[in-house]
Amino acid sequence: MEPVRTCLGCRTRDTTSALLRVVARNGVVIADQSAVLPGRGAWVHPTIECVTTATTRKAFGRAFRTGGAMDVDSLLQAIDSSTTHHQSEHSPAVTTTAVLLDEQADSELMSND
Ligand SMILES: [Zn+2]
Repeated sequence: MEPVRTCLGCRTRDTTSALLRVVARNGVVIADQSAVLPGRGAWVHPTIECVTTATTRKAFGRAFRTGGAMDVDSLLQAIDSSTTHHQSEHSPAVTTTAVLLDEQADSELMSND
């Protein structure tokens, strides 16, 4: 059984192999491609859409308990350079429901592995 984590962006549960582990270093969110970096980790789909959604909802700040805005530029670049540029008409929907569920779902996003 593969471990399952919740994407910070779209809130969908997925296996860790389908998600990208990210960690925070000095206010910067960086991609932990091999899931080996120490410290608090969070998981997000390696897509621009999910990272952008997570950023908009300040999900990284909460996941890493910084409370503030996080720099995701390097993360976006890492994703951008590792994915093909296929434009999808079906971006993950950002629903009001997902936003309303934020607070109660936060505990699921804490991960120390
Ligand atoms: Zn996602």
